[in-house]
Amino acid sequence: MSMDTPQPFLPFALPDIGDEEIAEVVDTLRSGWVTTGPKAKRFEADFSEFLGDPGLHSMAVNSATAGLHLALEALGIGPGDEVITTTHTFTATAEVVRYLGADVVLVDIDPATLCIDIAAVEAAITPRTKAVIPVHYAGRAADMQALLALAKQRGLKVVEDAAHALPTTCGGHLVGTLASDATVFSFYANKTITTGEGGMVVTRDAELAKRVKVMRLHGISRDAFDRFTSKVPSWYYEIVAPGFKYNLTDIAAALGLQQLKKARAFQQRRQAIAMQYHQALADLPLTLPPGPEAGDLHSWHLYVVRLGDAVPVTRDLFIERLFAAGIGCSVHYIPLHVQPYWRERYDLQAARFPHSQHAYERLVSLPMYSRMTAADVQRVATAARAALSG
Ligand SMILES: *Cc1c(COP(=O)(O)O)cnc(C)c1O
Repeated sequence: MSMDTPQPFLPFALPDIGDEEIAEVVDTLRSGWVTTGPKAKRFEADFSEFLGDPGLHSMAVNSATAGLHLALEALGIGPGDEVITTTHTFTATAEVVRYLGADVVLVDIDPATLCIDIAAVEAAITPRTKAVIPVHYAGRAADMQALLALAKQRGLKVVEDAAHALPTTCGGHLVGTLASDATVFSFYANKTITTGEGGMVVTRDAELAKRVKVMRLHGISRDAFDRFTSKVPSWYYEIVAPGFKYNLTDIAAALGLQQLKKARAFQQRRQAIAMQYHQALADLPLTLPPGPEAGDLHSWHLYVVRLGDAVPVTRDLFIERLFAAGIGCSVHYIPLHVQPYWRERYDLQAARFPHSQHAYERLVSLPMYSRMTAADVQRVATAARAALSG
């Protein structure tokens, strides 16, 4: 390519949608059943099968945000309660706690993994604490062994924000099959599989599953009828609570059915990209993202590098230079403690979150998606090298 022909823009993320997804969506459109129906149901069954645990209830919803809200509602979180989560996340993780009138207690992260610091969780527990929401940051599992042990000891519920973690393993077990109360996945456009918008709540708790199913669709229950007669007429339902409109459409589920079949292959491709980045960036003054624990799987939803303290360019300038070279980057995350709503609501100071603050000022998410070619990765690495020089 000649110098004056600019290369096409390389986005930060891109969905990987093939002919199979398109055919499945067209089939749905032709079927006449476009809202929640047989494909959403099949997507749920396939999801439990993917996780490989027949004891799981998988419940499709229209976003992970909806799923987190439903899981906490089903656990009875409400006014007066506190829920602990990481400051280093997307606002959705925490906002759902506020939907329920409960309070959010933000804590700092482990400086190596950027996942929630379990010692900080322990220090933040009060008599009002009801639950903890860990985030498997970038697709690397949080320290769930320590967190689940702490939660059990202190009688706390655990809802995993697994928006980045399909597929991720922890101690050899897929996230979604661990001993937490519920796990919530996201199928947002830039996640490891996508339905455009969508999510999945997974639990082993039959009562919790029942509540989530009722609340995701207007508080409608058909079970009440069962007590009096064996056959529920198709038109009959009862409203048992002021529920939400959080169901996943069959159009979205059609995408999910085909995306899920590719989830393993997507992970392998993302892992190969991460390994190529590791090699190409190894000699640069960057902190590269940690791999998974030995024997575990990292979904590599994100590839997050941190600029070394001695680098002569700021993170902002680094991103500007990559952008000028036609490369999209992002920042995961602007921590919640610096966001106006959270900062003001809880009077938060950055000094309370030194690891998150330090990481935030230096981190950049480089392009990462399964359709990237080896040449794309090399192009990013070359541009990163140039952008780091004074
Ligand atoms: C994407 C994301 C969410 C929200 O997912 P939606 O499906 O868009 O609601 C929640 N938490 C984290 C960490 C995310 O990255």
